Amino acid sequence: MEETFNIQAIVLNRYAFRENDSRVLAYSLEHGKMFLVARGTGSIKSKMAGHIEPFCLSELMIVRGRRYNYIGGAKSTNCFFGIKSDLEKLEVAGRSFAILNKIIKEHEVDPKLFFLINDFLEVLSDINKNINYNLFLHAFILKLVCQLGYRPELYSCVVCRKDINPNGNYFDFKKGGLACSDCQKNCQKNCLTIHKDSIKLLRFIVKENFIDISKLFVNKKISSEVIKSIIVFYNYNFK
Ligand SMILES: [Zn+2]
Repeated sequence: MEETFNIQAIVLNRYAFRENDSRVLAYSLEHGKMFLVARGTGSIKSKMAGHIEPFCLSELMIVRGRRYNYIGGAKSTNCFFGIKSDLEKLEVAGRSFAILNKIIKEHEVDPKLFFLINDFLEVLSDINKNINYNLFLHAFILKLVCQLGYRPELYSCVVCRKDINPNGNYFDFKKGGLACSDCQKNCQKNCLTIHKDSIKLLRFIVKENFIDISKLFVNKKISSEVIKSIIVFYNYNFK
C-alpha cells in the first residue's frame, strides 16, 4: 500500500523534469524544505499545475515513493496574485526565494520560519502604495537570519557589554552586533559606523511585523545604511 501524508507548503520553485513532469521545491510547515515530483504537469490538461506554481501556498497530498516523494493532489489556498501582477514585487519575492533556496537545508522543520515566509508574501502581495521595496526585502533577510539563529546584538556592546548609547557606535560583523565608541579600537576591517536612526530601524525590523515595517517612511541615507549593514551581516554569516 502506498503511504500518503498531507502538508501545507509554499512553492519555492518548479521546473520541468523528465518528459511531462516537474520537480517542485517547497517549504512546508510539517517537514521543512522538500524536493517533490509532480506527474503530468507538462500536459495542458493538468489540473494540478496551477496549484503548484512558485509563490503559491498550497495543501499538498504527498505519496511516498522509492526514489521521490510525489505530489498526489494539490489545492492552493493563496497564490498571492498581488505579487504575480506586479513586476517590482515579483522581483522582491524572487530574490527572497533565491536566498531561501540557498540557505535553508532540507528537512529542518521550523514552523516559525514557515509563518515568517507566509507573512512576508501576504504583506508584499497586499501592499497597494509605493514603498521602499529594497528595504522591505532586506527586512525580510534580517528577520530570516534572526530566525536561523543569527540575531545581531543591538542593545549592548559586543565587546564591553555596556548598554549602547545613541552615538558613536559601530556594527562589528565578526562579533555579531554593535560595538560602542569606547571599543572602536577593537574594530578593524569588520566594522561599519552606524547612525543612531539606523540602530533604531534595525531594532524595529527585528521586533515588529511586516505590516508595520511596510508602513515605515525612512530617509534614503538611513535606509541605505541599514540595507548595507544587513547585506554585510548576511554575507559574513552565509557566504
Ligand atoms: Zn564597548
